[in-house]
Parts: sequence; C-alpha cells; structure tokens
Amino acid sequence: MKIVLLGKNGQVGWELQRALAPLGRVFAFDSAQADFTQPDQVIEQVRRIQPDVVVNAAAYTAVDKAESDVERARQVNASTPGALARWAAEQGALLVHYSTDYVFDGSGAEARREDSATAPLNVYGQTKLEGEQAIVASGCRHLIFRTSWVYAAKGGNFARTMLRLAAERDQLKVIADQIGAPTGADLIADVTAHAIRQVQRQPELAGLYHLVAAGCTSWWQYACFVIEWARQHGVAIRVEPDAVAAIPTSEYPTPARRPLNSQLCTDKLQTAFGLVMPDWKQGVERMLTEIHQPTLSRS
Ligand code: NDP
Repeated sequence: MKIVLLGKNGQVGWELQRALAPLGRVFAFDSAQADFTQPDQVIEQVRRIQPDVVVNAAAYTAVDKAESDVERARQVNASTPGALARWAAEQGALLVHYSTDYVFDGSGAEARREDSATAPLNVYGQTKLEGEQAIVASGCRHLIFRTSWVYAAKGGNFARTMLRLAAERDQLKVIADQIGAPTGADLIADVTAHAIRQVQRQPELAGLYHLVAAGCTSWWQYACFVIEWARQHGVAIRVEPDAVAAIPTSEYPTPARRPLNSQLCTDKLQTAFGLVMPDWKQGVERMLTEIHQPTLSRS
C-alpha cells in the first residue's frame, strides 16, 4: 500500500509517521513541501505518487487567529481538502481527514453523535465543517475523524503550560465550564492505522466517526490532575492545590467563542472497528511521564 501523509510535523502528523509505517510505503510531507495555501502544489505531490491512501493531518489550528485570518483558514481547512477529495474520488483513493468538536455549538449536556446538528461558534469550526462537507460532496471514499482537546508529548500543550505556570506562580485561574475529553495524538494515530486496514478490507466502514478518549473533564479538572501528578512525582511546583481557582469562560475572553460542552460519543467508532477507547487520564499520565522522563530518572 502507498500512503501519502500531509502535515507530517503536527501533533497528529508526527504520531502518524510512526503508526502508518507498518501499513506500507509512507511518503510524508511537511507544510513547505505541500503547502495547503497552494492547492496545485499539494495535488501535484499526491499525483506524482499515486497513493492508495491520502492521510491529511495538515490544518489551520490557530483558533483565535482564524477569526481575523478567515481566507487562509478556509483555504487550508476546507478548499484544499476539497481539492484533495476530488482527486481521491477520481483515482479511487481513500482520503483520511480530521475534524473537530468545534463543529458543534456545545449547548446542552449530551455527548454529540456523528449525525447531531452542527452549528460552529467560530471561524475555525466553520472552516473545519466546510472541509468535512467538501469531502463528503466529492463522493470519495473517506474516513473523517472528529476529535477534541488534542495533546502530544512533542511540542507545547495545555499540560505543559499548566506545569510551567504552576512552577512560576502562587495562584492559577483555569476555566471550569468547558468540558471535553483530552485525546492523545498517539491514540488518534493508532486508531487511524487500525481503521485504514479495516476499511481496505471492508469498504462499507468508510465514513465519519468521533474519535476521543473515554471520560470527560473540564480544563480546571484537567489542570488539577496535572498538578497533582506533578506533586506526586516530585516535579517542582509552587502553587498549592487550593490555589487553582475555577473560573467561568466569561472571565477569560478570547477572540473566538468556544463550545462549553465538547463531549463526543464514540459508540459508532467502537462498534464499527471493534475498539475500546481508553480513559483520558491514562494517556495524559503517559504523556506527563514522557515529558518529565529526564526529571524522574534523575530523582
Ligand atoms: P497541529 O497544529 O499540531 O498541526 C497542524 C499541522 O498542519 C502542522 O504540521 C502544520 O505545519 C500544518 N499546516 C498548517 N498550515 C499549513 C499549510 N498552509 N500547509 C500545509 N500544512 C499546514 O494540529 P494537530 O495535529 O493538533 O491537529 C490535527 C487535526 O486534528 C487537525 O485537522 C485539527 O483540526 C484536528 N483537531 C485538533 C485539535 C487540537 O486540539 N489540536 C482538536 C480537534 C481537532 P507547520 O507546523 O509547518 O505549520
């Protein structure tokens, strides 16, 4: 099997380089080699290789910046994925793509299903939804995975930021009324590889799926979990447990509005592919151990 991976250096792209390797020959591109603001260049790279599968991990993910950079966000998240999808439809290739909980407005308390009504609150969510729609409209065989609150050991992430702030400050304020499931890029990549193998054998499994870790938390609970882990593992922190204040979203204004309820139901994914999603804490603990390995092995 020949696989083209686009966006190879992002959180998910990096893990896909590992997870896709046993499936066949992987041709991986970064944003300079396949720039989504230049669709012709992206299509030319793919055409040259004639892959059986295209995995698109490239995206415009700067949620707040997208509010004032609409055209670029739309090009990267919707127009170029649409062009890729039309190429895949012509060639009979499978297109794998990622989307987001931000396609929903986050109202109510229920976990969203794949067919729940979409209503993005911000430009990023709107352009990601347009990307999904362009792929479906192309008629290509596809796997679209909607995920949420992605983290990876490589690069910056929420947990790392909390650890840094907890080491620098006596007090922290963290949003407590946005809930969702922190999901590891490694889990997303592993499920992707598994699903690609199964769809090659059972094409009827192609479609849209929610792919998030099990369980649910708020940013505040997530921060407390990270800080407690740090305390138990001897990582230097200054903030006391009762000095992590829970604040409402209204106290932390950002250019882009975010959904309060980001829960995604994964029943469809688990049933179709025979998978069990692990609890979010399991992956976060692994990531914390990885990023603090040098500290832990010295202590
Ligand atoms: P990252 O921001 O870590 O990576 C995005 C990748 O896209 C980077 O490799 C980046 O390259 C690349 N990229 C950005 N602009 C362009 C461009 N113009 N041309 C080509 N490549 C470009 O994202 P994640 O790995 O976290 O996200 C993977 C998928 O998951 C995306 O579809 C995202 O929308 C979705 N998702 C992410 C969430 C999150 O919390 N991060 C939540 C829900 C969904 P470079 O580094 O060179 O700029």
